[in-house]
Amino acid sequence: MTTNVILLGPPGAGKGTQAKTLAERTSLSHVASGDLFRAALREGTELGMLAKSYMDRGELVPDEVVINMILERIQAPDCLAGVIFDGFPRTREQAVALGESLAAHDGKIDAVLYLSVPNEVLLRRIAGRQTCKTCGATYNIYYFPSHRPGICDACGGKLYQRSDDSMETAQHRLDVYFEQTMPLIEYYQRQGILHEIDGQREITWVNEEMLKALSQYLVTSPQPEE
Ligand code: AMP
Repeated sequence: MTTNVILLGPPGAGKGTQAKTLAERTSLSHVASGDLFRAALREGTELGMLAKSYMDRGELVPDEVVINMILERIQAPDCLAGVIFDGFPRTREQAVALGESLAAHDGKIDAVLYLSVPNEVLLRRIAGRQTCKTCGATYNIYYFPSHRPGICDACGGKLYQRSDDSMETAQHRLDVYFEQTMPLIEYYQRQGILHEIDGQREITWVNEEMLKALSQYLVTSPQPEE
């Protein structure tokens, strides 16, 4: 059985963190458009360079580019059981293209999990975010700091701030979200597949709520011991 899930929500809502855990606990693949762009940039590809020019300004990469990248990615064998979409779709055009492509293969979006977080919390969440260069673990200098500043607790790697996470770019990314992505809440609500989850609650609570919302579609494995 194929299950496709979208994690919807503003930058800083916790989509990446939640998607990672959900993927570990289900047979679904985590497909994050932002991660794919950052990987392309590390590899120095044309796609990466193009995406960077938009990402650095907090703008959206053009629909056609993102849509082609994602539709190609979900053809890979690891996506056969289904996908957790993180950061995609972000516009109505992207949502329509995704729906049409899945329908062409007898698939559909089964559920959209909308992580709601009050605006005032989002800026600190984004601008305080730090990521480990070595293992990708994420921290937040306000809410979840590493024990030693700038050093990853898990592997001792160096922490860095994403170039599009500065306060100014973060604010712009939020504005772009409100204008271009928020209409998708209503779009999926009308389809009867939207589940709103309080993204301000603690990480494990949010993850359990997500699994509950998906329980009718999924076979899950128990939470790994900490
Ligand atoms: P994220 O890691 O999801 O916060 O994405 C980082 C940046 O990548 C965004 O600010 C955009 O510039 C670009 N990006 C990621 N996903 C999309 C998308 N679905 N549509 C357009 N641009 C995107």
